Amino acid sequence: MVIIGAGVAGLTLATFLRRSGVSCIVLERRDRATIEVRQRAGVVEARGVQMFERWGLADKLLAGPVAHTIDYRINGVGRIFGVVADGGSQSRFCTQQMLVNNLLRELVDVMSGDVRFNVADVMIRNDLNGRPAVTYSDARGEHELACGYIVGCDGNRGVSRASIPDGVLTSYTHEFGYAWLAALVEAPVVGHPIMGVSDRGFVAQLPRGPKMSRYYLQCALNDGLADWPDQRIWDEIRLRLREQTIENAAVHDKDVVPLRCVVHVPMQYRNLFLAGDAAHLASPTGAKGMNLALYDVDVLAQALVRAVRDRDETGLTNYSDTVLPHIWKYQEFSVWMTDTMHDAGDPTQHGTFRQMIARARLDNLFESSTAARLHTELQRGLN
Ligand SMILES: Cc1cc2nc3c(=O)[nH]c(=O)nc-3n(C[C@H](O)[C@H](O)[C@H](O)COP(=O)(O)OP(=O)(O)OC[C@H]3O[C@@H](n4cnc5c(N)ncnc54)[C@H](O)[C@@H]3O)c2cc1C
Repeated sequence: MVIIGAGVAGLTLATFLRRSGVSCIVLERRDRATIEVRQRAGVVEARGVQMFERWGLADKLLAGPVAHTIDYRINGVGRIFGVVADGGSQSRFCTQQMLVNNLLRELVDVMSGDVRFNVADVMIRNDLNGRPAVTYSDARGEHELACGYIVGCDGNRGVSRASIPDGVLTSYTHEFGYAWLAALVEAPVVGHPIMGVSDRGFVAQLPRGPKMSRYYLQCALNDGLADWPDQRIWDEIRLRLREQTIENAAVHDKDVVPLRCVVHVPMQYRNLFLAGDAAHLASPTGAKGMNLALYDVDVLAQALVRAVRDRDETGLTNYSDTVLPHIWKYQEFSVWMTDTMHDAGDPTQHGTFRQMIARARLDNLFESSTAARLHTELQRGLN
């Protein structure tokens, strides 16, 4: 088994397989130090927590407080949405970086898993007659790995999906027409995580560990980093949250992220299976990208173990059909969150009718226990 990509999808899959006694090799183009510091998502939803509990890994991999409230703020006026408690597992604020670090420790340092960093020129051979193989090069030369199965966990711009011949996959894409300026700052969330609507555009502040947070500011699709010097970021945060007392803090990292959703169908071709961002992208407003990656590899790990141990490939044959309904459900949630939080803001962008509809949707969350329960289920990934 060869897994391409040591992001959250590839490392989780390799850890599950290793725990099940199935050997695999992970090929990663970056060095370990680089992937250990890469900051992105911040929440493992309740479904993901339950998954790690089922695989006996929750205590080793997850850390961080329970995520059970969001301050949905409109022009500075906050309303705290509390997830409807049912006594089950709760979502956790666990940064992607922390999860990746814990996975690396468990897989590489504790279980001696085979993760090869700094590889280049990865190519897939997956033709009908020969045995599947992956070739790559590193400092010691060129290598070929013959294998039974290949899993592409190499993100949106990897080689796995690109190796599939034209005409096999259909790509469904939705562009929102705006972007986010994402800024990692040295200032913790004080109080509740914020999803903010404002006449100046969307703003969010979400925790990234005890000392840091990530701010997201809606911006134009063609904005570049030069349009967002640190001072403008802080001025805009104060204006959108209507909190003039917020002080500037160090900005460690910033990026402009166009908001889009994409699903590539089917998520497999012969003995190659796609998982995580290699197969789909979810707009980050719903905080589902990493969680969908975890869902894919949970299903795939069970199918691969069955194929290797019992010579039963039913789970692999059905992989795409099994995961896609869940992926579409959470694409819908991501689109709902994105439309609602952005339409409810600046009416010059989306029109006053859509603004009022979006605000009515938010009101429903606070006025209807049925709407609140559904929102909770979707946030927790349990719908
Ligand atoms: C700004 C931002 C905020 C986000 N916020 C959230 C959030 O709040 N919640 C959430 O759930 N998700 C969020 N996401 C999405 C989440 O980060 C991704 O969905 C997640 O990283 C997907 O994991 P992955 O393992 O599939 O891909 P990746 O994390 O991209 O990992 C792919 C790996 O493959 C490697 N690779 C690529 N090409 C090759 C190659 N040719 N050979 C070998 N290796 C290769 C890469 O170096 C990388 O290590 C956010 C994303 C961004 C950009």
